[in-house]
Amino acid sequence: MHTYPDARSVIRALEPEEPVILNRPHAARRAARFFTEKFPGKVLYAVKANPAPDLIAALWEAGITHYDVASIAEVRLVRAALPEASLCFMHPIKTRAAIKEAYFQHSVKTFSLDTDEELDKIIEACRDPETGEEASDLRLCVRLRVSSEYAQLSLAAKFGCDLTDAPALLQKARQHCDWLGVCFHVGSQAMTPFAFVQALDRTRAAIAEASVVIDMIDVGGGFPSVYPDMEPPPLEDYFAIINQHFENLPIAYNAELWCEPGRALCAEYSSMIVSVTKRRGNELYINDGAYGALYDAAHVAWRFPVEALEDDLRDPLEDFAFYGPTCDDADYMAGPFPLPGDIQAGDYIEIGMLGAYGAAMKTGFNGYGEAISVTVTDEPMMSLFDGSRARPEADNVVSLR
Ligand SMILES: *Cc1c(COP(=O)(O)O)cnc(C)c1O
Repeated sequence: MHTYPDARSVIRALEPEEPVILNRPHAARRAARFFTEKFPGKVLYAVKANPAPDLIAALWEAGITHYDVASIAEVRLVRAALPEASLCFMHPIKTRAAIKEAYFQHSVKTFSLDTDEELDKIIEACRDPETGEEASDLRLCVRLRVSSEYAQLSLAAKFGCDLTDAPALLQKARQHCDWLGVCFHVGSQAMTPFAFVQALDRTRAAIAEASVVIDMIDVGGGFPSVYPDMEPPPLEDYFAIINQHFENLPIAYNAELWCEPGRALCAEYSSMIVSVTKRRGNELYINDGAYGALYDAAHVAWRFPVEALEDDLRDPLEDFAFYGPTCDDADYMAGPFPLPGDIQAGDYIEIGMLGAYGAAMKTGFNGYGEAISVTVTDEPMMSLFDGSRARPEADNVVSLR
């Protein structure tokens, strides 16, 4: 991949007609080091946030050895890129064929589940094909349903076993493995560490009721990144509160603590250059949108940072909305995105913080999927890890109990 100092030099060199994804491996490595040095347990990367092989290689270099994969395609991708990585299949609904292939061909031992049926499926799929014996090296992880009320994007409705069913499922799973974990996901971009407190309280209730030995607690993803109007409390506060509540759980003395961040490890990895194809009042038509890397900007009104890349714009900032390139009215991003008032067709804009759930979500709908990717060496438009942030006086930090 070609390397440039920054977005402006990419424009000068390429005068791109298509969107350009700008990748910053140094930012991903820095986020990974932050987590591996400061999180008081093991850090898995949740691959769905961005499966780009170059990103996965950067995270591996920075010390991320475990990967949360959620489809057989992700299993194959990470196994091909990293033969020595540990892969954990953390989607609670898998096909029999996917479990078999993961277990027998890619040495995946860790599987999550939230129902009896899934437990049976995993046990059957991993039986020795010759002798019919049950696998003795399975590491099972029961996913609990927890609240998403503190997160910007809910993951509460779809997966997770209810507290009333969890004890029986934990007891049954315990009979089929030597290593049993509990996992959950508090929702993405959790804006307060308290999200993890209530989830760990629920975990405590489930374990106490089941009275089985638990070898691992996986607090999932949900760790926030920084966006306009979304300044989270310091990640150190999340780690401290999680550690304190973990240590008070009734679990094996040598139980492990895991987390599975997606967004927090890769949000800063990518930004994108788009060009303005038309201006209509304060609506800018740009060449990427709801079916491209700006899915969240359109569908959940996420505000990403923007910067005009032309040096001759003089007017003060005004609020703009964007239309994407497809013919669909839904290809609209309300923003508001503050840009110079004299911006016009032909100008370029950099849109930041698209490394998580942005760059990974581009589709080819309506013929508009093309983009080139380059490496840049400048700083991301916003960062939690560049040392610039004083600890904010966050009013939503809960005190340690
Ligand atoms: C999506 C997902 C993650 C990553 O979530 P982030 O909010 O991006 O940190 C982690 N674990 C599971 C099971 C997920 O589905």
